[in-house]
Amino acid sequence: MKQNKKIAVTGGIGSGKSTVIEILAEKGYPVFSCDEIYAQLTGRKDFLRRLTDEFGDVCDACGRLDRNKLAAIAFADEKKLARLNEITHPAIFEEMFSQADEAGGTCFCEVPLLFESGAEGMFDGVIVVLRDLEERIKSVAARNNLSRNSVVNRINSQFDYDNYDFAMYYVIHNNGNIEQLCAEVDKIIHKIREARS
Ligand code: ADP
Repeated sequence: MKQNKKIAVTGGIGSGKSTVIEILAEKGYPVFSCDEIYAQLTGRKDFLRRLTDEFGDVCDACGRLDRNKLAAIAFADEKKLARLNEITHPAIFEEMFSQADEAGGTCFCEVPLLFESGAEGMFDGVIVVLRDLEERIKSVAARNNLSRNSVVNRINSQFDYDNYDFAMYYVIHNNGNIEQLCAEVDKIIHKIREARS
């Protein structure tokens, strides 16, 4: 039996990924998030140098990464965006897996762009969180203080979770309240445990 298992938690914006990760953390599982790992990496001089070597001055007056500057450069040019992903994605996964190895046991990793980056095969299992579109729109608009239209545009620019066959993955339908979501998470934990034996 494998001692250390890495399970990805993914889903579209507003589906409830972070909430699922919080529930798992409360249950005592080691959890990781690509966004947090990226923030850790960009706080390191060597990684920041790789970005400045590639994209020029992307720092603020204090020498920290200016995410807006980097985004303005990368999103203006498809090739630069691809290059940014080439640099960041492997570094994020390498760091996340090294931290997960150190934690041991069954670890859960929040990976927003799992299918877009083709990284699903790197994990021992994948949990896909699905939620009704209207709930996603309403909760992201409220959470990020955004207009309905801008949320809809963001959702439409992402992977189409509503028309994909997730039969080979663990799926959570997050269409109830938080208690129901906790119960769904328990069911998945049970399935993952069964898969280990
Ligand atoms: P994601 O990380 O996928 O973008 P979040 O976990 O941040 O999504 O959830 C988006 C918003 O919806 C958050 O404000 C969260 O508290 C809320 N939310 C998620 N699931 C539920 C639920 N089952 N009931 C009520 N609110 C929820």
